[in-house]
Amino acid sequence: MSLLKKYCLLGAALWIACAAPAFSEYTALSTLLAETASKLEWNPLLESGVLVKDTTQVVFTVNVPWVIVNGSRRINVDAVRRQHGALVFPESTAKEIRAVLEQTDIPPKVFRVAAIVIDPGHGGKDSGASYVHTINGKSIRVSEKDIVLNLAKKLHVTLKARYPDKVILLTRENDTYIALEDRPYIANTIPVKPDDAIVYISLHANASMSSAAKGFEVWYLTPNYRRDLVTTASVGKEYSEIVTIMNDMKEEEFTRESVLLAGEIASQLESAIGAVTENRKIKEGEWLVVRKAKMPAVLVEVGFVSNLEEATRLMDDAYLQKIEKAIYNGVSHFIEQFEQSKGFTE
Ligand SMILES: [Zn+2]
Repeated sequence: MSLLKKYCLLGAALWIACAAPAFSEYTALSTLLAETASKLEWNPLLESGVLVKDTTQVVFTVNVPWVIVNGSRRINVDAVRRQHGALVFPESTAKEIRAVLEQTDIPPKVFRVAAIVIDPGHGGKDSGASYVHTINGKSIRVSEKDIVLNLAKKLHVTLKARYPDKVILLTRENDTYIALEDRPYIANTIPVKPDDAIVYISLHANASMSSAAKGFEVWYLTPNYRRDLVTTASVGKEYSEIVTIMNDMKEEEFTRESVLLAGEIASQLESAIGAVTENRKIKEGEWLVVRKAKMPAVLVEVGFVSNLEEATRLMDDAYLQKIEKAIYNGVSHFIEQFEQSKGFTE
């Protein structure tokens, strides 16, 4: 069950509890929800909730004398309390929250993918999967690091031409070794505006004990994995009580985005090369590069170097061009949806 669903179910249980008679100096949660047409996401462990209306979010915590609007603006209020088990808002607090949620002159947020980081796996002393095959009568070493660099450079050129206003970055531009943990660090430190997104795409080629194994697959981070996306250090000590809920919300958002990106890339690869190789589908895993990237991230395995037929194709520039075009299409479809949505917050 998704975290959001969990919250909503608990929210529903709470709502029933709140349907108890209201007290004059307090506004019951159910009343506030109905009045403002907002939804509640509730974290029972933290006794903290988020009132969501369109793109506005108001976070409150029981017995904490402030609320936080859109993850950044703090308003001091009389604390939300429990009365006979039900949540109640002091009238002055309810008034503040109503004003925030009913505000219509807030300019709509602009959601934008500001940067795309392309990470060709391995490099230098680390060849990745590497096999010697006889191709066209010649003995050739086929290495993952070379294939993915070739592919990444093509992708970099196309994306740069299509998105001149976005930062398009390669984690390596030549045959150099970069430690695994340094790759997402490059992406994590790109300066962007608060609502701007960065997308991380790691490119790899596969290997198997079975020489018959072939196909492409796209990985995204296991949804239950938790990174430190929102920390007390990043938002300030005063938010320490709700950092976990803010972090969970960020993780859920990145999971939705990563799954969408992985799906777009896989379906484009299916149309481009599905006729000659296998679609091993999208999968979840805890790859280090994806784990350390604090953004929507995917890892694409473009084919098996261990398979003679596939290795031969991967050494062919025209075939690699097809893969490049497919990944490009997948990324641009994702960007289109992201930038037209409100960052998938609705
Ligand atoms: Zn690899």
